[in-house]
Formats: sequence, structure tokens, C-alpha cells
Amino acid sequence: MPAHPDLVAQNAQFTKKIHKLSDNVFTAVGYAASNVHFLVGEAGIVLIDTTETTQAAENILSDFRAISNLPITTIIYTHSHRDHISGAKVFAEGRDVEVIASDNFTSDLVGVDQSRPAPNKALMARTKRHFGISLRPDERISVGVGPGDRPMKGMGAGYIEPTQRISERTQLNRDGFDLELVKAPGETPDHIVVWLASQKILFSGDNFYHAFPNLYAIRGTPYRDFDAWADTMDQLMAFEPEVLAPGHTQPVVGADAIRTALTDYRDAIRHVVSTTVEGMNAGLDPVTIAADLRLPDHLASKPYLQEFYGHVGYASRAYFAGTLGWFDGNPTNLGELPPVAEALKIIRLAGGADAVLLAAKTALSDGETQWAMELADRLIFADQQKDAASKIKIQALRYIADFTVNAPTRNYYLLAARELEENLA
Ligand SMILES: [Zn+2]
Repeated sequence: MPAHPDLVAQNAQFTKKIHKLSDNVFTAVGYAASNVHFLVGEAGIVLIDTTETTQAAENILSDFRAISNLPITTIIYTHSHRDHISGAKVFAEGRDVEVIASDNFTSDLVGVDQSRPAPNKALMARTKRHFGISLRPDERISVGVGPGDRPMKGMGAGYIEPTQRISERTQLNRDGFDLELVKAPGETPDHIVVWLASQKILFSGDNFYHAFPNLYAIRGTPYRDFDAWADTMDQLMAFEPEVLAPGHTQPVVGADAIRTALTDYRDAIRHVVSTTVEGMNAGLDPVTIAADLRLPDHLASKPYLQEFYGHVGYASRAYFAGTLGWFDGNPTNLGELPPVAEALKIIRLAGGADAVLLAAKTALSDGETQWAMELADRLIFADQQKDAASKIKIQALRYIADFTVNAPTRNYYLLAARELEENLA
């Protein structure tokens, strides 16, 4: 199966390797979706993040034992996302380790109030499509900020609850390292970054990676604070790091390269905000604003702002929804027809289901794949020519998947196509 060549080429970011950041600091990249950082002291090791599965953690630890046999004494979680907290038990090797996180740390695994209704089932189905879980590695290619082909055994299984929670700026000495832990909201509000001043190394969690920031995840996420994330870029730059070790993708080395990357990241977020605000104030709807939004050329060309993970248009729509809410401002849409009712009327207007099906087929063969899917959806909703329409939608989804550089979109299209195929009569 072909795929967008830039998405394929980005897999070079995930070459499996333990990068040496200094004499005693190492980062394991490419073993899993996320990275693990080792700070090797005289008697023990401080670990930052623990990756997504126990199997990946075992692989990393086994390779790392060629570098040091010291015990891991302290684990720091940069944030609560599952891909950073799930291998802790493997690294602890049965010992009692200190586990440090922020005081607003909440995760997929803990703190979910089961007594209240929540769309967990929907979130799970969408997450599966977002990450292409159950797609073959050659279909998945990538998850955007990590390799598509990686161990899945023990997903979420090795989590250890934090033993210490820090607020704002905290100085710690562990295994001979003077560390500064600083709260830095970005991809999540519970982020902390770790500053190793003596070596000018900054561990930035998921507030920077080599892809456009994931300001909205199509698996379904609450509003992420755009301004806070942009402000955090200034906060990170103020450390004047010489090595930036992110939670995903490869480290960035050199003060100038880091300053440029963080500045561009901040400016890209600010550009989405200011352009979306301009459109909102002009009375435009979120779909039109997102369709026209592009990064300026000097940002659009940067390798770390390609839409492998985050997506400029999705971000703009999330900003709209997160600030003005779901209503686009057009009074018609306060009472819009539900999709089934609308589909029945459109099909009748178009001269019946066969006419709509023919138009969908023509659109598909003309390369108008989005329109083909929108026509197919009318037939699927109305339960008229449903299988024929589903087949058109499946073809369209698979066709577009190979042209998108955004890994979550690709994965979502491909898994949704397979689900539709399984439901054919
Ligand atoms: Zn992550």
C-alpha cells in the first residue's frame, strides 16, 4: 500500500537508538511511540518517562543495561498520557521507587470517576482509529510522533501511581543531579518539564516534537489551551537549553537550533489563534476558516511543523469550539435537521437513491473523494442503496488515506474503512 512519501520519510525520526546526550544522560528513541530518558548518577538512575507498554520498556531496559547496571531510583512523569506512564513497573524491577508528577496529574488510568456518565466507549472506539490499533504495521506506517511498527504487549500495564506531587517550580537533588521541575502546560495542563542546569539539557515532555502540535486530537479531547501552550514555548526558551530532549522524536542539539524551533512552534500556534480569531470576528463559520487557514511559508516549510501529528485545520476548529462553542453563528443551524431527515429530503430532491449513487460514483472517478463520501453518507443515513454507497465510501477513505500526511487521519480513514467493510451485508 502506498502512503504519503513525507509520512514514510518521517520514520527516520524513529530509528531505534539510545542517543547519548552527554557522558551520563541518554534518551531511548524509536522503541515505542514515546521516549525514555536516563540520567545515570554514581549510585542510581533518574528516569524521565516510562513509555507505553511493558514490552517496549523491557526492550529499552535490556538494551540500556549495556550502558549501566545501576538501579533506577526515581521516575519522573512529564505528564499523564498513557504512552509515558505505562512501563514504570518494568524499570522499577520490583524495588520501591520514588515516582514524581505534577500536583494536577490525572490520567487515563487513574482519577476517572466511574460513578458519573462519560463517553468512554466512544473515546475508546475513536482512539483505536486515531492510533490505527489493529491495522497492520504496513498499513499504519506511523502514529505521527512514533513508529507504526512497535510492541503492543502490556499496553498501559506497568503504571505506578506517583508518590510525590510537585507544584510550580521545585528543586530536587536525586542521584547527584540538581534538577529543576517546572510546571509547563501545553499538550496537557498537567505537564512538567525537567531542567538539568549543569548540562543545559531540557526534557520538554510533549510540549515540543517534530510535528505540528496536536492542539486537537481526533480521538476526542477537551479544549487544549492554545495561549498557555504558546506561552510555555517562551518559558522553555528562557532556560537557554543547549540540548532539548522531547517526549517523542529525536533530540534537538544546539542553542540556536532550539531557540529557532521553539520560536517557530510558538509562532505557529499564535498564527492559528490570530487567523481563527480574525475569521470569527468577520462572522465566518469554523469550516470556512479552517479550509482557508495556512501557516506562513517560513513556518510551513519547517520539518518540525509538518502535519504528521497535529493538523492546522483541526486546530483552528478546536479553537473556535473551545472559545465560542459549537454554534457557528448561523441561526439556521440552531434547528438543523438531523442527518437522516436531511438525507431523505436531499435524496428525494435529487431524483432518488439511484441518481445519488450515480453522482457518488462519478465524483469518486473524478477524484472528488470528499464529495463522493458526502453523497454516500446520505444514502447510508437514509438506508437506501446502503451497501453500494458503503463501498464507495470505503474506496474514497482508502484513496484519501494515501494522500494525507497526517498519521491520525490516515489511521482513522483506514480503520473506519475496514469497519464499514465488516458491516457490509
Ligand atoms: Zn506522548
